[in-house]
Amino acid sequence: MRVGVLAFQGGVTEHISHIERLGVKAVKVKSVEDLKRIDRLIIPGGESTTIGRFLMLSNMIDYLKEEIYSGMPVWGTCAGMILLAKEIEGSNISYIKAIDITVRRNAYGSQIDSFTTRACIEEVSLNEIPLVFIRAPYITHIGENVKSLCTIKGNIVAAKSRNVIVTAFHPELTDNLEFHEYFIKI
Ligand code: GLN
Repeated sequence: MRVGVLAFQGGVTEHISHIERLGVKAVKVKSVEDLKRIDRLIIPGGESTTIGRFLMLSNMIDYLKEEIYSGMPVWGTCAGMILLAKEIEGSNISYIKAIDITVRRNAYGSQIDSFTTRACIEEVSLNEIPLVFIRAPYITHIGENVKSLCTIKGNIVAAKSRNVIVTAFHPELTDNLEFHEYFIKI
C-alpha cells in the first residue's frame, strides 16, 4: 500500500513520518502523475486557501474528485477538512465537495485560541487520544449520510462518509499513531 500526502503546504512531513512509523510507504503528492501511484490520500492541515489555490493551479482537482468519488480513501485534517467539505460557511467557494458537511473556518478564534484536549473516539480506538486544535474549523451542518465521529464542547470535530474522513484536529502533531492506523485500515 502507498499512502499519499498532498504536499503543497502544511503538515506534510508529520503525516509521512506517522505513516512510516506504522511500516507503510508514504509519498508526497503534487501532481496527477503522483496521484496515479497511490492507494489513499491524506490532505494535511495548513491554510485551506493556499492549498486550494495550488490544487487548482496543478490541474489536479478534477482527477482527484473522480478518484475520491469512485472510492479512494481520503482523510483531511483541519485545512484538509475544509478542502473536502461540500460547503464553507459564509463563502461561495468550496473545493473537492467530497463529504456533505458545512464547516466554519477558524471557528475557535485565532492562533492563540488553539488548544489540546483528549477524547475517546469509539470508531478509532478504545483509548482516549490527544486532540490538537490549531485555528481549527468545526462542522456546523452534517448531511444524512455522514456519521459524526467526535463532538468537543458541543461541536462536531470529526466525521466519516464512506471513504471520506475529516478531522478538525491534528493527530500527526501528537505521538499517538492510532488515528493513522485507523485510516490505513478503512
Ligand atoms: N485556519 C486554517 C484554514 O482556514 C486551518 C488551520 C489548520 O489547518 N491548522 O485553512
